[in-house]
Amino acid sequence: MSDTKKNLDFMLEMGLNIFKARPNKGHKMLTKLQKLGKLEGILTQNIDGLHQKAHSKNIVELHGTAHEAICMVCNKIYPITTMINQVMKGEDRPSCEACNGLLKPNAIFFGEPLRSEILSQADDMINKCDLLIILGSSLLVYPVAFYPRKALSLGAKIAIINIQETDVDSFAEVVIHEKIGEVFPRIVNIVKNEIEEVH
Ligand SMILES: [Zn+2]
Repeated sequence: MSDTKKNLDFMLEMGLNIFKARPNKGHKMLTKLQKLGKLEGILTQNIDGLHQKAHSKNIVELHGTAHEAICMVCNKIYPITTMINQVMKGEDRPSCEACNGLLKPNAIFFGEPLRSEILSQADDMINKCDLLIILGSSLLVYPVAFYPRKALSLGAKIAIINIQETDVDSFAEVVIHEKIGEVFPRIVNIVKNEIEEVH
């Protein structure tokens, strides 16, 4: 807040990269698994909105989203383009049309707490799950680091696909240390074939 100009330049560059980004094989395979009825929802720390671009449903974004702006005073939510348009016109303090408060991307910044309503959506998802698939996370950041143990304590099983080892590898039914893009599409295709054989 003390140097909005500098921060806005950085955000603008990051924001434009996020706009250009397209879903990868991992995102697309999650959507496929969901269409097969084998994936209830997605918990993510990413703010890039790529799960939505891949048409997945029931996505909980723990760290918020770079596709929205939020007023720091009244919490009104805007499309991020509202903020970007003001910055592109040279505005150093993009502002809320309702209260004139400063707008920021609706993503969690360093030092900001996570939103309680989002944490409770994530808790609901963990409470209900019977299989937690961990994809591409070393589980080093809370609250995500806490979810596998919580799911295990509630009787769920866990499967991990991550290039590096994690602290919960020894508790998992399956651990695969490979790239998601190489291994996950094969798994989803096996699931698809098995479902088709049954029907
Ligand atoms: Zn406002």
